[in-house]
Amino acid sequence: MELTLTPNYQALAYLVSAFLFIFALKGLTHPATARRGNLFGMLGMVIAIAATLDGEEVQDYWLIGIAMTIGAVIGIRVARQIQMTAMPQLVAALHSFVGMAAVLVALGTFLNHRAADELDGLLMGELSAGVVIGAITFTGSVIAFAKLQGIMSGAPIKFIGQHALNAAIAVLTILLAFKFGTTGAIWALLLMTLLAFVLGGTLIIPIGGADMPVVISMLNSYSGWAAAATGFTLQNNLLIIVGALVGFSGAILSFIMCRAMNRSIINVVFGGFGTSGDSGGSAGATAAQQGVKSASVEDAVYWMEDAGKVIIVPGYGMAVAQAQHALKEMMEQLNARGVEVKFAIHPVAGRMPGHMNVLLAEADIPYDQVLEMDEVNSEFQSTDVALVVGANDVVNPAAKEDKSSPIYGMPILEAGKARQVYFLKRSMRPGYSGVDNLLFYQENTSLIFGDAKDTIEGIVGALKGTGH
Ligand code: NDP
Repeated sequence: MELTLTPNYQALAYLVSAFLFIFALKGLTHPATARRGNLFGMLGMVIAIAATLDGEEVQDYWLIGIAMTIGAVIGIRVARQIQMTAMPQLVAALHSFVGMAAVLVALGTFLNHRAADELDGLLMGELSAGVVIGAITFTGSVIAFAKLQGIMSGAPIKFIGQHALNAAIAVLTILLAFKFGTTGAIWALLLMTLLAFVLGGTLIIPIGGADMPVVISMLNSYSGWAAAATGFTLQNNLLIIVGALVGFSGAILSFIMCRAMNRSIINVVFGGFGTSGDSGGSAGATAAQQGVKSASVEDAVYWMEDAGKVIIVPGYGMAVAQAQHALKEMMEQLNARGVEVKFAIHPVAGRMPGHMNVLLAEADIPYDQVLEMDEVNSEFQSTDVALVVGANDVVNPAAKEDKSSPIYGMPILEAGKARQVYFLKRSMRPGYSGVDNLLFYQENTSLIFGDAKDTIEGIVGALKGTGH
């Protein structure tokens, strides 16, 4: 038998890209290698785009060039202007584009193949998967965006018969997919697409509050499957590989986050747990009225400058205040006095996975001083000061002690075990889950009210002997 090899440079380039994407994911698993991971991902994408443009199926470079230029201009603008705190909604918006792209590619492919009389059952099955997953991803992501952006309430929206309605839409969609697959009827395709758009909305509206991070990573996973379905439609192997990588990594991340919050994925998807906002302290009531102790910058400095160990617990408020650079300076001041300083990171601190790690890395805080929850929790009892910088839910003992609390079961950073706890926040308002924090009322806790960055700068000033 004679073996002939045809050079297929596109397949080779796709293979190289696929490897680069896998290296990118590997790099993104640790802050120290994340930048390199990103570079691998970018390189993989450049190779993938170049190889695709070189393919014989591309007939018109003009339209593609115009679309890419418009996309690049908008993308660069958004990337430059976006605040770190708004990243979750940006990610949600980007997922919606993947979903819509999958729907449009599937519809376009259907029309092309119908015109050429080349429809077959397998193709129509792929098209059905593409439009359904894509449409669910699109509206689900739009709703998640609206919730995170505050355009609509972040609380779960529930109504009687919600699950039955979702089940009915899902069954109807499957029946329509079957009808379309066997007859090629365009009305079945369009109705199925419409129902999937509705399903994306009705699936996501009952999810809210502290479950939103899981929703984002679930939608990330859906967008991967939508891309993979598109890959089958376009017979593009790289899109199938990349879709599967995104689909699986989003699903794995969802499971990891559920485990970190001690919630089952089924519970998140059908639960409707979230912020009520009415169970927490109010911004209006004074600290004294609510029975908490307030303290000054000097009190914190007094405790910290002679401490053996200080653990800093950053949270969403650190991101809002952009206090990470001031924290780095404070860490250096304390280190110079022989105080050991560590950072304790909760898996869902902030508003996106890795939010705190990114900000601390931006401030060049050494990775070996940044510890994950499981590594650091045993250290709090030998810690003199736990400095909680704009964090709230992630240290709330209600998660362990109050069975009626909506956050019951979520593992927390055990900051309350330190000898002295200082909270840096602006008011008595609760955190994202809307739940009052039991740690505020603990004997060894004091609150220093004010913007976290101002307070930390005050501490740095005092430590330098020049400030307050
Ligand atoms: P929280 O939302 O529980 O608390 C943040 C605290 O920061 C608030 O109490 C707020 O109090 C304070 N704050 C806000 N601005 C400032 C400021 N400028 N200076 C000082 N303090 C400030 O944050 P955590 O990080 O503890 O917990 C994250 C929560 O978000 C969890 O419930 C998590 O489930 C949820 N979530 C997480 C996502 C993720 O992927 N990580 C995504 C979406 C939600 P005050 O207003 O009084 O200043």
